[in-house]
Amino acid sequence: MIVDYHMHLRDPGERVVHTLEAVERFVEVASARGVDEIGFSEHVYYFRQTRSVWTLEYQTERCVYELDAYVDVVLEAKRQGMPVKLGLEVDYVGARQGELAALLEPYPWDYLLGSVHWIDGLAVDQQPGLWARAPVGMSPGCWRRDWMPTASSRARKCAGER
Ligand SMILES: [Zn+2]
Repeated sequence: MIVDYHMHLRDPGERVVHTLEAVERFVEVASARGVDEIGFSEHVYYFRQTRSVWTLEYQTERCVYELDAYVDVVLEAKRQGMPVKLGLEVDYVGARQGELAALLEPYPWDYLLGSVHWIDGLAVDQQPGLWARAPVGMSPGCWRRDWMPTASSRARKCAGER
């Protein structure tokens, strides 16, 4: 069985769209490509309900969508028999992790993907981001051994949970 549980619901123009039509389009494309089941893992910082835990402009300016609408659309797709799972891509938020967990607890998630997009406010996967501060060509092993000890304990905990 082939599955892909890391997907973000977008329209053909790459805009965030949490609708049944969008789910149907993803399911059709997955089926055409031989994928048996897909899971949606929208970024947790896109949802207004989680606003209290975000501090970076990148997060707060995106924090405008309704979590219940996203959940309802995926649950409806499941109810209709589509091969989909309800997930969420959940950033590590250090001391606020308990608060975030409590916000997400009431929903019937099939799974949650843990992720680290920022360390000490610097983006891991954007430019210039964290890598502008790290030496060029640093290997992951070198990163853990030589660079991380200089970061805060919060960041070290992040790295350990990647
Ligand atoms: Zn993702």
